Amino acid sequence: MNHNGRITIPSELIGSIPRPDYLLSAVRDHDCGRMTNQRFHDYENRSVQITISELEATGSQVITDGEQTKSSFIIYAIQQLINEYYTFSSGCFSLTFADGRQHILPRLVKSPFRHATYAHTYLDNAKRFTHLPIKQAVISPSALSMVYPTATIKNYSHEQFLTDLINETEKEIRLCLEKGAHCVQIDFVEANFALKLDPTGHLLRDFVQLNNCVLERFAFEEQHRLGVHLCSGGDQECHHSFDAHYLQVLPKIFDLHVCNFYLQLASEPDREQVLQCVQKYMQPWHRIFIGVIDPVDPKIETPEEVCERILEATKYIPIEQLGTTDDCGFAPFDDDRLITREAAFEKIRARLEGTKMAEERLMKKKSKSI
Ligand SMILES: [Zn+2]
Repeated sequence: MNHNGRITIPSELIGSIPRPDYLLSAVRDHDCGRMTNQRFHDYENRSVQITISELEATGSQVITDGEQTKSSFIIYAIQQLINEYYTFSSGCFSLTFADGRQHILPRLVKSPFRHATYAHTYLDNAKRFTHLPIKQAVISPSALSMVYPTATIKNYSHEQFLTDLINETEKEIRLCLEKGAHCVQIDFVEANFALKLDPTGHLLRDFVQLNNCVLERFAFEEQHRLGVHLCSGGDQECHHSFDAHYLQVLPKIFDLHVCNFYLQLASEPDREQVLQCVQKYMQPWHRIFIGVIDPVDPKIETPEEVCERILEATKYIPIEQLGTTDDCGFAPFDDDRLITREAAFEKIRARLEGTKMAEERLMKKKSKSI
């Protein structure tokens, strides 16, 4: 609710928008040496600029750069170090999907762990093209912790690795805040997966603890600009951890020292059950951005459907603590082409229109009850 007594429900996308064809072919040409770095960056910048202007045209009040230039939302920070510090040869951690495909993480073979790219560089670039507030996503330290091999690296203990990882993530988040990010969203997509891998919940608990080692270094006021995104990793209509029980993961997520939660909900088979769980564990200083759009379903939601989902959620979440989002990014892993750019923007428009519709209905209900 804003200071005029109007009901306002903030609405944000998660991050990624499918890249346009000209950028995808530029990536291929650049990868095989047929395009210079300068020319490639020109294509990237053009894509960021156009994506931002299309997001502005949807009426979004908070935007991202569409993650047009992130090579991977998991390993962007270390991508440039892969040849020198990492191997894919053996002992690597992999995220396995329902259809058996695997996303393999590189394995660190040389100390120290460090970032080559900090996420504020994306933010700096995006700021050149918009005056709207920009949300910046970073990968969780728990996801990157899986690059450390089971065997110890000589003269580099696991403890030293974790210290470096925590310091690097803190630095990355701080830089984003200092550079004016509206919010820094930590992508904690491996939370569900952790429970699948270790049903006792120990791995998930360790992940939450590791992430909190970073988050507790931020003051409470700063934590109001921090958020966490939780989903089952939507990708090509498969989910790598859809079978893990969301209801077991959620209570642990609310232990994280952030104030904003971006939660998958639209594609959940039993939304009321998830909402009951959120109601039970959320705190008065939390804002819950519920997923009202399913980014892997090619069908475009209607504003009415979105509105109904929001009204359903208000039975469990106080309106002043509610926000709306999409269940996940529109192209989190690859440009899978199931959802076109046009469809992604249409879905975003449906979310915004549906959110506005819900605000109006709730205002009417409020004025009737006065
Ligand atoms: Zn996601």
